Amino acid sequence: MFSKILIANRGEIAVRIIKTCRRLGVKTVQVYSEADADSLAVEMADEAVLIGPPPAAQSYLLADKIVDAVRQTGAEAVHPGFGFLSENAAFARRLRDEGIVFIGPNPEAIEAMGDKITSKKFAAEAGVSTVPGHMGLIEDADHAVKIAEEIGYPVMIKASAGGGGKGIRVAWSRDEMAEGFRAVKAEAMGAFGDDRIFLEKFIESPRHIEIQVLGDKHGHVVHLFERECSIQRRNQKVIEEAPSPLLDEKTRMAMGAQAVALAKAVNYDSAGTVEFVAGQDKSFYFLEMNTRIQVEHPVTELITGVDLIEQMLRVAAGEKLAFAQKDLKIDGWAMESRLYAEDPYRNFLPSIGRLSRYRPPEEGPTVSGAGRLRNDTGVREGDEISMFYDPMIAKLCAWGPNREAAIDAMAEGLERLDVEGVGHNAPFLAAVMDQDRFRSGKLATSYIGDEFPEGFHGLPLRPDQADLMTVAALWMQGVRGPRRDAWSVMIGKEVRQVRVTRHAAGMTVALPEEGDRQIQAAELDWKPGDRLLSGVVDGRPFALSVRRAADGYDIRHRAAQARVRVLSPDVAALYARLPEKAPVDTSRLVVSPMPGLMITVDVAPCQEVKSGETLCVIEAMKMQNVIKAERDGTIKAVNVKPGDGVAADDVLIEFA
Ligand code: ADP
Ligand code: ADP
Ligand code: MG
Repeated sequence: MFSKILIANRGEIAVRIIKTCRRLGVKTVQVYSEADADSLAVEMADEAVLIGPPPAAQSYLLADKIVDAVRQTGAEAVHPGFGFLSENAAFARRLRDEGIVFIGPNPEAIEAMGDKITSKKFAAEAGVSTVPGHMGLIEDADHAVKIAEEIGYPVMIKASAGGGGKGIRVAWSRDEMAEGFRAVKAEAMGAFGDDRIFLEKFIESPRHIEIQVLGDKHGHVVHLFERECSIQRRNQKVIEEAPSPLLDEKTRMAMGAQAVALAKAVNYDSAGTVEFVAGQDKSFYFLEMNTRIQVEHPVTELITGVDLIEQMLRVAAGEKLAFAQKDLKIDGWAMESRLYAEDPYRNFLPSIGRLSRYRPPEEGPTVSGAGRLRNDTGVREGDEISMFYDPMIAKLCAWGPNREAAIDAMAEGLERLDVEGVGHNAPFLAAVMDQDRFRSGKLATSYIGDEFPEGFHGLPLRPDQADLMTVAALWMQGVRGPRRDAWSVMIGKEVRQVRVTRHAAGMTVALPEEGDRQIQAAELDWKPGDRLLSGVVDGRPFALSVRRAADGYDIRHRAAQARVRVLSPDVAALYARLPEKAPVDTSRLVVSPMPGLMITVDVAPCQEVKSGETLCVIEAMKMQNVIKAERDGTIKAVNVKPGDGVAADDVLIEFA
């Protein structure tokens, strides 16, 4: 085993690698950009080396800097994490030439699988089922239309060099084909500097199922079963789980055998992932192979007990795999939620800034049930989610003895997550955990579009959630304000009369309008300033996000949110007669939803625009965000031009 390795990555995956190294007694060197000088990974590593300014192209992507840092610190090997240089064959080869071990597969395997067209050919030769389509390169839009018509619509247009959900588009007709071909070609050139395109049949309502493989340098390859990653937004994974609710043992073994055959065909000698799309009928087709550790690797670790980072280190050091296929078993079920800095209520707009509060749920056994939680993160309270890198805050993972228990554990973890300062998608993740369709396992990559066709606006409040909110508001009111027995609790516009009896850390709430039904609350835990209130209601542990508002509390339980007011019955009667305040009209102003760089400004003063038309494009965190008109109208003023840097809430455009 190595005595010292260097980590050529950042954020949560760097922290994840350091954790395993500490356990194995391997010293770590963390390289970092100026933006990451105070990061958790730098703090945790044994040594740290500054390699450049924040943009990845001037730091994490520079092989020279990494090699210099290796020389300077005497590290024996480099773990590249994912992204950055992890699938760069030239980098792996350079390290090999310089006598430094690359903790990943050999460069020839990376090369063979690095490009989607080549890898598909390899897969077909190794007997792996591939998506019907055209294997060769496509010259121009006319050629593309001709081939698409042979395959039959819908057709997927893909950049051979694509990754991370970029360079992919579906065409349903001849017109969409011609247009999509040009768009993907341009996007691929911009993002990957390589505009080779190919076409394949678009599998409708498919599921994304992938096989984890692991090989050593002695010709042994095993698979560690599957992960299902069908919950995606814009072809990017959001929630992953292992095993897959679709697969039976026969299909699992068939997919595993194909993945192992492909890995063997390219002498694969590290951890890797063979991705498939699967039909609801359990047919499956090869998509691509990712020759690196995958973001969602924790769910595999949770069901197999194998530490994949440890295995990558061991095989890179030349050790033989210590287990065979028959030694691997699936134990229980695991879920992963990617917690992103984005605002789910505003079409998932990136929301970056400082984490003024970051208190993830405790790792280990859950409060309710037989589950366990794990949280992979690279940030601490007070850290900044910067616009230079991936906007992921953490990967919250849950294990349970079965799928239902794993979902419950995840829902509990999401409830007990206390994050402020940046918008985050926990309410959205919680909504999915609470949906019957998700619980029934009827997944598809179209899930989010199917279930939230108008975007995400939270879920309606269920009666049990109204009870939790009633208890919470009464408890907070009792801690701070006058204590009396009879109150009116207003949840949104609904008013319920209650009678309260308090005990040490709990209370009984009687509802006279519901036949004196009683809500029993115990172990209530909250003090002024807390943003989480936890307790047990009717025997069930829960936590709520709470925030004081002018005349009550804004309370959220999972995906349901409400303004809750605790009023004396007289005041409640007055509230009922209060005319509703019309919201202030801010729709004339188009404000920047995030800090970023103006790429294009598509309108000019006096121009008439229709709702849905593009007004401008802002780039933030490697993503182009198209700002569209939310109403019809005439443009009065345009306050920005391409190239301008803008802050969140800057007024970009004004309507007359
Ligand atoms: P895929 O969707 O191809 O299976 P993954 O889901 O495993 O890929 O995600 C890999 C992606 O993670 C990379 O394409 C990149 O956008 C992103 N990434 C790269 N480096 C980092 C990092 N240090 N921290 C977080 N995310 C990263
Ligand atoms: P990337 O390198 O960006 O991860 P993939 O080829 O893995 O690209 O595709 C990303 C996602 O797009 C898949 O997870 C799947 O949801 C969807 N997808 C890809 N190819 C097809 C296809 N032929 N039919 C249907 N969906 C597809
Ligand atoms: Mg992929």
